[in-house]
Amino acid sequence: MQFVEVAVPGGAPREYEVVIGIGLPDGVADDLVRWQQVPRWVVVTDTNVAPLYGEPLAVALRGLGAQADCVVFPAGEEAKTRDTVTDLQDRLIDLGHGRDSWLIAVGGGVVGDVGGFVAATLFRGISYVQVPTTLLAMVDSSVGGKTGVDTPAGKNLVGAFLQPRRVLADLGALASLPRRELAAGLAEVIKYGVILDAVFFELLEKELLDGALGGDEAALAHIVSRCCELKAAVVAADETEAGYRQVLNFGHTVGHALEAVTGYGLRHGEAIAIGMVVEARLANRKLGTAAGLAGRVAALCVRAGLPTEVPADCDIEALVAVAFRDKKVRRGTIRCALPAKLGVMENHHGEYGISVEVEELVAVLSG
Ligand code: NAD
Repeated sequence: MQFVEVAVPGGAPREYEVVIGIGLPDGVADDLVRWQQVPRWVVVTDTNVAPLYGEPLAVALRGLGAQADCVVFPAGEEAKTRDTVTDLQDRLIDLGHGRDSWLIAVGGGVVGDVGGFVAATLFRGISYVQVPTTLLAMVDSSVGGKTGVDTPAGKNLVGAFLQPRRVLADLGALASLPRRELAAGLAEVIKYGVILDAVFFELLEKELLDGALGGDEAALAHIVSRCCELKAAVVAADETEAGYRQVLNFGHTVGHALEAVTGYGLRHGEAIAIGMVVEARLANRKLGTAAGLAGRVAALCVRAGLPTEVPADCDIEALVAVAFRDKKVRRGTIRCALPAKLGVMENHHGEYGISVEVEELVAVLSG
């Protein structure tokens, strides 16, 4: 097992540990019961993950003498809504949960974001644990405390910051993950290399990406632990995205807009792959970043099985309109986190969201 500390400012209990390589359901149940005496646990999970890991975890917790319920909501980004949150809150209240209950979000990024937001809002906040079961959730969304839901106007527009108390990742869970979902997770992995770690990016090019695609556990362990280390360092430096945390948004201004205009027909990671290639081109045009970087990002994405071009039928005007409603908009201009070179992000006086003109964005969107 590997351990990564997330040293969020504020001391215990805000600091927490990511445990990589623990087993679901028994290892996770054992860890939780030994670690905390909790009056009641509630597993929150989606319809795909419930039979595989969510319900077995609740059963394993009960087998160890703990009280544990399991509540399930429909799988998919379409369910990442305020309605789902309201429904879950009502169900937890009906089940008799209280402020001393702990929530366990078992699933991908959607379950983590929705479950975390329920934890942040129910009874003015209860503790929660992340048990990520997709690669994307293991390397990114389960760490850092961003929770929330989409609205008809765009991605993640309603939410809260609440750090989990513990993150438990079973790499074995990736064996049941559809290949398209594994690829989507690799988009965020590639992002970490571009924004923070050139050596890691080169290792992905050399062997790690192929290893991950082949299900090699050592490669996956390397990838998950390195990404968690990188994310932990960013979150510890800037928990609420006042400045430095904006580096994590590389590919996301375009990516989030693409997700919304395509009606979530693209997986989050697929939209981010296209967004990274477009924004790397933008960095070349705006900052003079080496033109080859966009090509290297695109080549890795293609090897992972990810799309790299804006779909031909995408309405560019609508995409730009959605980008204007993004949370990253400041002082009325669209902002993108852009690489200055591989592993280093551009900043203007500590501001990593670089202001972008509509014409510049339109020019790079179409290749
Ligand atoms: P997801 O949660 O929809 O999971 C993808 C699919 O895989 C779902 O159908 C799910 O049921 C299924 N699944 C999950 N684990 C499985 C397993 N082990 N075996 C078989 N099937 C499994 O999507 P995702 O890609 O994990 O997450 C995307 C979401 O994460 C987006 O909403 C995005 O906005 C969010 N996100 C949040 C943050 C953050 O910091 N909070 C960061 C990045 C992304």
